[in-house]
Amino acid sequence: MAARIDHAVSSGTFTLDGETFDVDNNIWVVGDEEECVVIDAPHDVDDILAVVGERRVKAILLTHAHDDHCRVAPALREKVVAPIMLHPADRPLWELTHTDRLWDVDLDEGFEIEVGGTTLRALHTPGHAPGAVCFHVADLGCVFTGDTLFQGGPGATGRSYSDEDLIKESIRARLFALSDDTVVHTGHGDDTTIGAERSALGQEG
Ligand SMILES: [Zn+2]
Repeated sequence: MAARIDHAVSSGTFTLDGETFDVDNNIWVVGDEEECVVIDAPHDVDDILAVVGERRVKAILLTHAHDDHCRVAPALREKVVAPIMLHPADRPLWELTHTDRLWDVDLDEGFEIEVGGTTLRALHTPGHAPGAVCFHVADLGCVFTGDTLFQGGPGATGRSYSDEDLIKESIRARLFALSDDTVVHTGHGDDTTIGAERSALGQEG
C-alpha cells in the first residue's frame, strides 16, 4: 500500500506576546493503512484522532512550538503512545505552553523518519521560529512547511523569537532548492507550490 496524505482543519487560538488570535490550523497525517506520523498537534486531540483512525502513530512531528501547533501534543502522546519530535532551538517557545514536560526526540537538520514506505526528511528553516523545520517527502513530491512558507509568501516574523532576514534566507536556501512542482502543504490555509512562491517572490530557479 502506498503512502498517502490525510488532512483536517482544527480551530482554536494562538497566543504570543500577550495577544490572542482565532486561528484555523492544518493537521497533516502521512502514512499507509497500518501506520502514520502526525504533523503538528494544534487545538483538539479528537480532531487529530479522526484523521489517524485505527492506525499506529509512529511519531508526532512538530514544525515549531507556537502554541497553536504544539498545544495538545502531550495529550496526543498519552493517547497514541508516540514520541513528540521538535527542534531543540524551539525550547523557549515550547516552555511558554508546556512548563512541566518536554518533547521526546530532537529534530535536527537531515533527520529522517520512515513511515508507510515513504521517508520524511527534516529541513531546519529558522526564521518564523528558531527551531522551525519543514518536512520534505521526495517520493510524494511535497513539503510540509508549517508557518515558514504559505500560499502568498513567508510566514510572519513580527513577534518574539522571529527573524525576517533569517526566514527569507531559509526559504531561499532550503525551500527554493526543491523543484518547482513540489506541492507545499502549509500550517494554515491552502496548498501552494514551490514554483508559484518562487515566481511570486521574483526569484529565479
Ligand atoms: Zn507559528
